[in-house]
Amino acid sequence: AKKQGKDQFAIFEPVMRESFQKHLQMEADLRRAVLQHEFELRFQPIVRLSTKEISGLEALVRWQHPERGMIPPLEFIPLAEETGLIVPIGEWVLREACRQAALWNTYREGQTPLTVSVNLSAVQLERTDLPQLVASALADSGLPARSLIIELTESLLVDHRPETLHRLEEIKRLGVRLAIDDFGTGYSSLAYLRKFPVDIIKIDKSFVDDIGDLPAAAALTLGIIQLGQALQLSTVAEGIEHLEQLSELADGNCELGQGYYFAEPLTADAMHHLLVTGAPP
Ligand code: C2E
Ligand code: CA
Ligand code: CA
Ligand code: CA
Repeated sequence: AKKQGKDQFAIFEPVMRESFQKHLQMEADLRRAVLQHEFELRFQPIVRLSTKEISGLEALVRWQHPERGMIPPLEFIPLAEETGLIVPIGEWVLREACRQAALWNTYREGQTPLTVSVNLSAVQLERTDLPQLVASALADSGLPARSLIIELTESLLVDHRPETLHRLEEIKRLGVRLAIDDFGTGYSSLAYLRKFPVDIIKIDKSFVDDIGDLPAAAALTLGIIQLGQALQLSTVAEGIEHLEQLSELADGNCELGQGYYFAEPLTADAMHHLLVTGAPP
């Protein structure tokens, strides 16, 4: 009881109070942001390594705060998850990403349709209505299910509840594909690769970073690519920044890649130029 009393007292320490108030302010701001549509998407190309053609785009959310400017996702997604605000934010991201991709595909008639990849939070996966939401985003945008990829992190699969698997299977039945994000970072268990209906492995940037510096990193990366091939999964390397990394990955038959070497995440306008005119603005 004594210890608890001390902890309760701690919240009134000036430093604690300040950070507590900042937290409350941020939460109020985030609620307003949802109502006033202060979010934007950036799109990063995902490139086929054998041909250098753009195969798809990853949608990445940004918060355009009226006073603080652009806030990156890692600074507000955790709070959005804690408060449940990730549900309306994530719904907007999904609908907007599908709408944009469907629009861009109409300009690219005759070419292979672009895919669009959307990041999903564990909180969204807990919602029983997630499959209906995905179906509705596809129907409203006209995007074929085959062109949508949902990205999930490893930890989300490891900590899953039984219903999660059913929900993912329901989404898969729509024709949507699933990717494991940040592959290789979380847990060493590979069992969920069999258990979950995954189509794509995204090799975490940390492996790609060390290619060229650490022989073991290149060996591990090639091992993951081969694992993907053995399981008939597509492989995407994240965070390619240098030609040396690209060469190593392409030689190892990694199918797809993304990173600053090709392009940073672009605004919809910049992406439009790139896709329609073939050159950035
Ligand atoms: P992620 O899904 O692993 O996305 C890749 C991150 O790496 C992005 O950061 C991207 O801008 C960055 N990146 C891409 N290529 C390179 C590169 O060559 N070098 C370096 N240094 N970085 C690169 P971003 O946009 O800040 O997003 C961070 C994370 O926030 C994402 O990691 C994802 O986990 C989360 N996130 C982003 N958008 C959403 C969203 O709409 N919903 C949810 N739930 N999470 C999101
Ligand atoms: Ca991702
Ligand atoms: Ca990732
Ligand atoms: Ca990441």
